Amino acid sequence: MSASATDTVTVPTPLGGPTLPQERRILTSIPGPRSQELIARKAAAVAAGVGHTVPIQAVAAGGGVVLDADGNSLIDLGAGIAVTTLGNAHPKIVAAVQAQVAQFTHTCFMISPYESYVAVAEALNRITPGDHEKKSALFNSGAEAVENAVKIARKYTKKQAVVAFDHGYHGRTNLTMALTAKSMPYKSGFGPFASEVYRAPMSYPFRDGLSGADAAQRAISIIEKQVGADNLAAIVIEPIQGEGGFIVPADGFLPALVDWCRANNVVFIADEVQTGFARTGAMFASEHFGIVPDLITTAKGIAGGLPLAAVTGRAEMMDASHAGGLGGTYGGNPLACAAAVAAIDAYEHDGLIARANELGAILTERLSALRAADPRLGDVRGHGAMIAAEFVDPATGDPDAALTTALAKACIAHGVIVLTCGTYGNVIRFLPPLSISDGLLHEGLDVLATALNDL
Ligand SMILES: *Cc1c(COP(=O)(O)O)cnc(C)c1O
Repeated sequence: MSASATDTVTVPTPLGGPTLPQERRILTSIPGPRSQELIARKAAAVAAGVGHTVPIQAVAAGGGVVLDADGNSLIDLGAGIAVTTLGNAHPKIVAAVQAQVAQFTHTCFMISPYESYVAVAEALNRITPGDHEKKSALFNSGAEAVENAVKIARKYTKKQAVVAFDHGYHGRTNLTMALTAKSMPYKSGFGPFASEVYRAPMSYPFRDGLSGADAAQRAISIIEKQVGADNLAAIVIEPIQGEGGFIVPADGFLPALVDWCRANNVVFIADEVQTGFARTGAMFASEHFGIVPDLITTAKGIAGGLPLAAVTGRAEMMDASHAGGLGGTYGGNPLACAAAVAAIDAYEHDGLIARANELGAILTERLSALRAADPRLGDVRGHGAMIAAEFVDPATGDPDAALTTALAKACIAHGVIVLTCGTYGNVIRFLPPLSISDGLLHEGLDVLATALNDL
């Protein structure tokens, strides 16, 4: 049959994954015409509250690049916010999901259980810090995991108050908005927020200059005076804060909080949604600080890009809730669980923790050299493949959000995806997929250095 005029012409979509050419390639200005078309449709069809950082139409991704509909190939230093840690369309994830999708897509684990959910729980119980008896429950998003961790802690302790920290980020649902520190854009106008949530000061060595012990004493004193251990079910903290600016607390801060929690029947919840699964050069960031959380929340990197989240923790806490009290229609969906089994296998056996540390060494060395030459780069910090650069006014040390925004924009215009973060909007965070090559990472940092120099 010959083609007729009514046939639609479809542009073949390139396959993603590691077979995608690993190069930065700019064929049009960004956004190019096809991307502009999608952005216009988005503006007309999608709620304005759902923003975007990189104005492209993504059509494929893998290794260390994201391809857009105009043929541009961008270096990916964000991994979709620390999700595609294994690299996009990782062959093990693709195979696992393809096999599962042909078998069954949903039974609801609360109706008819299946093996992969149990296998994910077993794996999480094994790989999370501490050798005590643990259990897990699966959910759909990081926010949902944090909400459930709070439910579990309240049920177990029979207490209600929860303490979160300055610069903390825990999600966009009602309870997690209350736990989150920053008003714009996460909370502003969306109240009233859940009650019995209190905030304590974080350890932020670059800005407070306090030792870990002193910062912990400051936080504990506020908790004791303003909340009281008798009322406190849990404290929720990111061992390394993500959205808040990749803030690494001073040594001793987290262990002192854990000790205080243990002494006061308060559940210590580590929110490792962003830091989990090899990202920081350890399976979990808690390991860097020698702490064993009572409960740990995970999501982002857990399943190679499929939506899945978990709460893992002490069996007696996890078992405090009655049957039917925890769960959800989609929680632990079979496709996501199949992906998570494959992903966790890769994290455990494919040298990814070492790879995170190699990438972290490159990032830290390059950014530290930049900092030595440019006083606007005030601090370089982080662990493994979770490194941040904080930009300041050299004269005052005040946060420089304008410079940071302009720098991120310039990087994107030149084909390098970088994300910003920080309470003051003055931090560029580097979260490359661990599948990126050294060469692409260096090229991305070259682009950043040139853009900084030009500003
Ligand atoms: C992203 C994030 C969340 C929220 O996860 P969602 O899947 O977006 O709901 C919670 N806590 C931390 C530390 C995060 O980085």
